[in-house]
Amino acid sequence: MSIAENIEKVRREIAAAAEKAGRDPAEIRLLAVSKTRSVEEMREAMAAGLCVFGENHVQEIREKYPLLPDASFHMIGHLQTNKVKYIVDKVELIHSVDSLHLAEEIQRQAEKAEREVKILLQVNAAGEASKFGLAAGETEDMLLRVLRDCPRIRVCGLMHIAPASEDMEAIRPYFRQVKELYQTLGRTEHPRCQFQWLSMGMSGDFPLAIEEGANIVRIGSAIFGPRQYAAQ
Ligand SMILES: *Cc1c(COP(=O)(O)O)cnc(C)c1O
Repeated sequence: MSIAENIEKVRREIAAAAEKAGRDPAEIRLLAVSKTRSVEEMREAMAAGLCVFGENHVQEIREKYPLLPDASFHMIGHLQTNKVKYIVDKVELIHSVDSLHLAEEIQRQAEKAEREVKILLQVNAAGEASKFGLAAGETEDMLLRVLRDCPRIRVCGLMHIAPASEDMEAIRPYFRQVKELYQTLGRTEHPRCQFQWLSMGMSGDFPLAIEEGANIVRIGSAIFGPRQYAAQ
């Protein structure tokens, strides 16, 4: 199937999951995860109406950004502090903020660039050692510190990566827990606490994430096909 056909199929599945949950499909944003994909493949997605891309490597954003002036980029991967400076002016949203150290560097670079940076806090609800992210229990403290210490940062919600599993009922509780955290923390009264995005769900689990309240789904392989990593 072509990229355009895949996008069509994913959009239908998003709509079906939203309807099942009694939600308006229009409130769910589809982020095309374009890591490892060529600019040509991304242009195909753009021709099919999808112009917002998620990337997990700073270098890839730097290379693709000037070639796709009509696209917008989200950073969804682990971000090293020494690379923040390369992307603060290129990304619409950073999904993967998981330490005060990183937030402080984003603050410094945002100050230099004289701009506001929108972020999500990444939560590792299952406590998987292989994944980055804040423990659910430390997320509120992190939120309050960012609001206090980082005046150039606007906190727009939470991001979550569920454990890889075929068993949807096994991972449902994690989505639900992050949704509850999103609702609780979203009530924090602060001008730079503006929760509007709950980023959860990938190719293998996005219908479930939508049932549990996600409003950004990050989809790679269901749009572009299986990823080919170059042999190391
Ligand atoms: C790669 C990646 C995705 C997309 O994964 P697929 O299974 O290909 O849809 C989503 N989120 C993050 C953080 C990723 O790194």
